Amino acid sequence: QAKSQGRDTFRLYHPSMGKPTQDRLILENDLRNALKNDEFVLYFQPQVDIRSGQLLGAETLIRWQHPQQGLKLPGAFLPLALESGLIIEIDQWVLRQACAQIARWQAAGYDKLRLSVNVSGQLFAQEGVAALISDIVRQSGIPTGALEIELTENTLMQNNAQTISTLTDLKQLGTNIAIDDFGTGYSSLSYLKNFPIDTLKIDRSFIRDLENAPGDIAITRTIIALGENLGLTTICEGIETHQQKDLLVDLGCYIGQGYLFARPENLEAFSLRLAQQKNRNRVGPAVSENQN
Ligand code: C2E
Ligand code: MG
Ligand code: MG
Ligand code: MG
Repeated sequence: QAKSQGRDTFRLYHPSMGKPTQDRLILENDLRNALKNDEFVLYFQPQVDIRSGQLLGAETLIRWQHPQQGLKLPGAFLPLALESGLIIEIDQWVLRQACAQIARWQAAGYDKLRLSVNVSGQLFAQEGVAALISDIVRQSGIPTGALEIELTENTLMQNNAQTISTLTDLKQLGTNIAIDDFGTGYSSLSYLKNFPIDTLKIDRSFIRDLENAPGDIAITRTIIALGENLGLTTICEGIETHQQKDLLVDLGCYIGQGYLFARPENLEAFSLRLAQQKNRNRVGPAVSENQN
């Protein structure tokens, strides 16, 4: 499966598959139009305290509301966005929208909510990317700590010297940095001590069969210990069953996301969730503390 090779090695097709080039050109053209016509939308997947279910934040996940074909998942269009380089514009669009959304939530009193955004290796490799992100964040007026940037190991390993300086700039700005799909990329662990990183996101592939795979338990336990020893937050991706959740709590991982808690939701559904949570005084100040 394409995704299993990681975000930056997505392949829509291989020449040997004989897929007509014309299809690609049409899709690429559609993607350009989608940007122009604002057809992309943000979905939000809750990140929760897995013991209490308390909502802590969300991961931003892009969707394409295609005028004819309906809602498309990233797997259907990010491969070509990566191949064509359009991902650089798409990621910037997502960052702007995400920061604007954080600003609206801040204004509504959800000031503890954190939003994470996936940034591709291509955007991350751009010269001046830290300044670009910094501009977007500053223009939105949000507290910089409300934004987390998700990067894969492969992205971080692209170019060591530049990576360190970009991460340092982002840290200085105050944004959080997460390593996405941790454990699946090509990297040496030594980078963890050199890079200013806040969060490890344990890849879903280790969780999927956690109950039945001693190897996955061993790896997960080790990543959790690694995070703990380095003073990092560890988040688990793809928790689908109570058994997985209970096991993760036993292993000492307390933050996670997955279908067990919630699927990625559109703004309307996520806003409803926020409002319900606010009434329970969990995210942000309760209404009574905030207003008279
Ligand atoms: P990711 O960043 O690792 O995001 C997690 C993916 O796992 C999401 O798929 C999410 O819907 C899915 N997921 C969450 N919980 C579960 C679960 O319990 N079970 C299962 N089976 N899946 C779960 P999605 O939304 O299709 O996104 C796929 C990938 O596309 C993302 O993986 C990320 O690499 C990329 N992506 C998404 N949005 C963006 C974006 O705005 N920019 C960039 N550059 N990449 C993005
Ligand atoms: Mg992610
Ligand atoms: Mg991930
Ligand atoms: Mg993943």
